Amino acid sequence: MKSPTPDCVLVRPGELSLKGGNRRRFEKILRRNLRLALEHALGEAPRIEKRHGRFYLLDPRDPRKTARLAARVFGVANASPASRVPAEPAALEQAALKLLERRLEEAAPRTFAVRVRRADKRFPIRSGPFAAEVGARVLEAHPGLKVDLDAPELELGIEIREEGAFVFLEKIPGSGGLPVGSEGRVLSLLSGGIDSPVASWMMMKRGCRVEFLHFDSSPFTGPGSLEKVRRLARILDSWQGGTKVFVCPFAEIQKVLRARRGESYRTLLYRRFMMRIAGALASRRRLGALVTGDSLGQVASQTLANLRVVHAAAADLPVFRPLVGLDKEETIALARRIGTYETSIEPYEDCCTLFQPRSPATAGKAETAAALEAGLDLEGLTAGALENLRELDLDAPPGPGGSPGGGPAR
Ligand code: ATP
Ligand code: MG
Repeated sequence: MKSPTPDCVLVRPGELSLKGGNRRRFEKILRRNLRLALEHALGEAPRIEKRHGRFYLLDPRDPRKTARLAARVFGVANASPASRVPAEPAALEQAALKLLERRLEEAAPRTFAVRVRRADKRFPIRSGPFAAEVGARVLEAHPGLKVDLDAPELELGIEIREEGAFVFLEKIPGSGGLPVGSEGRVLSLLSGGIDSPVASWMMMKRGCRVEFLHFDSSPFTGPGSLEKVRRLARILDSWQGGTKVFVCPFAEIQKVLRARRGESYRTLLYRRFMMRIAGALASRRRLGALVTGDSLGQVASQTLANLRVVHAAAADLPVFRPLVGLDKEETIALARRIGTYETSIEPYEDCCTLFQPRSPATAGKAETAAALEAGLDLEGLTAGALENLRELDLDAPPGPGGSPGGGPAR
């Protein structure tokens, strides 16, 4: 008989099953993302097999760790470290008991339930009676345990499928969503704050590959700001891999705008330039949308009127603001889960707070903003900024003087 310790990981995809004709493409992307994520975290990925809409990670070195890593990949509903067992009642019962005994060495659950799924109808016993039979065996061996079918402390899962029979004790909840890359690429405006990393993650969750653009105000800000962005980007990279971060020197444009009239509009004018430059970069890289961490009503620049003022300068591209429906507390909870929170709250100098107007306009008008920009060479400034774009090297140690440490952007 097979060893009673988990020797594979069962990965259950989420929404893929809804995808009809696209399903094969989605599965291919998910398989690749699983392989890359496991390679990245473990150095090498176990063999991955796909059967009947499931993925099996075979003979992983550390099944629990592998299952946790796999569950984190977008598109995965949940994952179970499992033991493969011959599809025979006696072998399954024995494997279930052994797995349970190992668990009882670590924990002391008081209640349990056996859940059987019999997808392969050649198995001689129906799922209900077989669950009862295994449950009876467990009670014989462990009289201290009680059955609780509603809220058991321990669930013993048995799945009998054409490709094999599996016994497992855990279903590690997955990240859900769609596999990164299945819905195209977008450009996210990444600051050093709490919000934009969360907004970016939410787009990844819906299948987008996210590229990043950061506006750097050095020398007004110190090298710490860029370093912080690099660390945030590395954390975000762990959710998608292959991350690109572009850094746009922004100080010159800020100087130009600071010299204009209309102090109360200053933040809005910065933001409008960010939109223009982001739009130009997105079009150059053929990215399908812009993403920001704006919410509604959080700060002066995020009133409904001001979002419109900023949006008016955006190129003809969708601009997604996935946080618009969240309270700050909800965003913070997500940031903690993603792993960006602790980095985001480190003090840093923000290019917009730096030159913040004393009393910012809260009900701005696009026409007024445009009037304040009159006479500026918008296209020239945008093109110039694009020219000076650099790609941030995520692996580089902190560069002297906060240099991005990357090559010219393509
Ligand atoms: P965050 O926590 O993401 O900084 P915030 O609530 O502080 O957001 P703002 O500072 O007003 O809000 O910024 C709104 C959005 O504008 C950010 O979420 C981000 O998408 C974009 N943004 C602001 N500053 C920068 C920057 N320096 N580089 C790139 N994007 C920026
Ligand atoms: Mg901010």
